[in-house]
Amino acid sequence: MDKYYDRIIHGGDYNPDQWVDTKEIWDEDMRLMDLAKVNSATVGIFAWSLLEPEEGVYNFGWLDEIMDKLASHGKKAILATPSGARPPWMAQKYPEVLRVEESGVRNEYGVRHNHCLTSPVYREKTAAINRMLAQRYKDHPALFMWHISNEYSGECHCELCQKAFREWLQKEYGTLDRLNFKWWNGFWSHRFTSWDQISSPKYRGENHVPALRLAWRRFTTQQHLSFYLNEIAPLREITPDVPVTTNMMRLYKGIDYHSFAPYVDVISWDNYPDWTNGDNTESANETAFVHDYFRSMKDGKPFYMMESTPSIVNWKGVNRQLKSGVQELSAIQAVAHGADSVQYFQWRKSRGGHEKFHGAVVDHVGHENTRVFRDVARLGAVLEKLDAVVGARTTAKAAILYDRENSWAVDFFCGYHRDRRDYDKVCERWYRAFWSRGIPVDVISADQDFDRYDLIAAPFLYMVRAGTAERIERYVRGGGRWIGTYLTGIADEDDLCYLGGFPGGGLRKVFGVWAEETDSLDEGEYNLVSFGGRTYRAEYTCDVIHAEGATALGEYRTASYYAGTPAVTKNAYGNGEAYYVAFRPQQDFIDDFCGGLIDEMQIQPDAAFPLPEGVSTRKRGELLFVMNFGGEEKTVVLDREYRDVAADRTVSGEITLPENGYLILR
Ligand SMILES: [Zn+2]
Repeated sequence: MDKYYDRIIHGGDYNPDQWVDTKEIWDEDMRLMDLAKVNSATVGIFAWSLLEPEEGVYNFGWLDEIMDKLASHGKKAILATPSGARPPWMAQKYPEVLRVEESGVRNEYGVRHNHCLTSPVYREKTAAINRMLAQRYKDHPALFMWHISNEYSGECHCELCQKAFREWLQKEYGTLDRLNFKWWNGFWSHRFTSWDQISSPKYRGENHVPALRLAWRRFTTQQHLSFYLNEIAPLREITPDVPVTTNMMRLYKGIDYHSFAPYVDVISWDNYPDWTNGDNTESANETAFVHDYFRSMKDGKPFYMMESTPSIVNWKGVNRQLKSGVQELSAIQAVAHGADSVQYFQWRKSRGGHEKFHGAVVDHVGHENTRVFRDVARLGAVLEKLDAVVGARTTAKAAILYDRENSWAVDFFCGYHRDRRDYDKVCERWYRAFWSRGIPVDVISADQDFDRYDLIAAPFLYMVRAGTAERIERYVRGGGRWIGTYLTGIADEDDLCYLGGFPGGGLRKVFGVWAEETDSLDEGEYNLVSFGGRTYRAEYTCDVIHAEGATALGEYRTASYYAGTPAVTKNAYGNGEAYYVAFRPQQDFIDDFCGGLIDEMQIQPDAAFPLPEGVSTRKRGELLFVMNFGGEEKTVVLDREYRDVAADRTVSGEITLPENGYLILR
């Protein structure tokens, strides 16, 4: 199923459990939610100490009341499981539920997320409270979706986790001989003779074996996933028809979210971009990249934007209020890129505690006569006109390969340019060449299907895991076009280097090049590259390559051993082509290079009219979203007459988009 409701979900985190002593406010919340055109509330995220004030003593009365109120006001409840934070009694009675940090010291009770991923007690307790919630609300008319825990993250180094890690390693590697070989443990005399000798990477322990660090991240991902699966087991059993999600965090690197995708019904993520009161083009590109990353995780199935702020956050050094329109445009961007929800953290500001100054729809003043409330209500009215996009998938002919395990490997290896690897930024730059032209693009991992795309850009694909090179080879041979860059195909899944010349793993013949050396440049130092009659700057990292069948499209114009060597190549391979960009380019080269390919391949943008700088478009279903992030008025010239769905008017010809303005065209 691609949609669970006929409307865009509009709501957010609602914490009536914090207001249980002043319950009269609950009815006021319902009145205000109606006014703000909010149709959903996410409840119970951190409510465990109220739900189970003593071990085995449950208190659901308050939640019954809230669920009833939501139902009677026609609102959907996204009901959370409370494992993101736990009651003090639990930590006091069962210290094993608390997390052990890398230092080996167990945390004391406090904050949130602070739990062991392995603890049988914690898994039993979470499954038990989840079962109680499912049994109690399984037939409740408000129950719409399960929100599992909150922002799974971090790692635990306790003995239970160490033991589970060793068991996981045994399953992964089979024998110590194999592990010693794959981790290259002959280096510094680190050959293990017993599984018990292995423990998690630590600052004061083993932190110089990249393969160990990779294994630990993979294990931590699996441990989070198995914790999650333990959480949802009773929900799947008791409420098989209620969809399940867990809210993820932007480009968080601690776990590989792709592992969760098959086990959630809806991908959801918490969106807190660095918006400013000026030109937001850069942030808009970065955020679009993340939307497309999450959208691509389930083959384009719509996702939920589970959190965003309606005004400011509280965790930056300077938490600047934004002009009206910035957050509205941010919400519209989410929908344009595939979100079926616009949700906030938070509905009502806490009166005390850590997040009392984080933006909320309802401020401490308590009424609707605020700028933020009016902005939210105005957006709510627009979202009510967008039923046509709910459930609509987008397809793309081009993809950026952005791979979490590769990002780990890139972060962990020692050598070349240590300070400016910037894997996220590099991928966002390649993405921008498509985004700025309004070309739909997916953001995929190395394990996802390549064959649905005509063009894939895979910058800095340092790690090429078993089977990936073969899939790339098949893709290109079958007619696909593949763009690789410097430091591609260096190491396998255990960071073991490929022998016999880079790009390794069998990719040398696909690219038709051999990368003999990799050079690193200082800040402000550039190599020059000539390509297509122009000269471009190469920064930070440059391969020196030899063409072995590939055609040079560009050359280094740098003296010494670079002189005359190719910097950009194209290799006809089978029915396709593989391109190698031997250096780290700046945006101008990426735009020109990708622009040339896009034109040649006739990959069509969503809009049939030109886009000024800072204006992006995205088509979803029958609607074309045109969004102005440029920080000033922009003019677009429409190719025909459209219906502007948001403003309810017919538009054609030259249209002026105000700063942070948008059009939703049918
Ligand atoms: Zn643990």
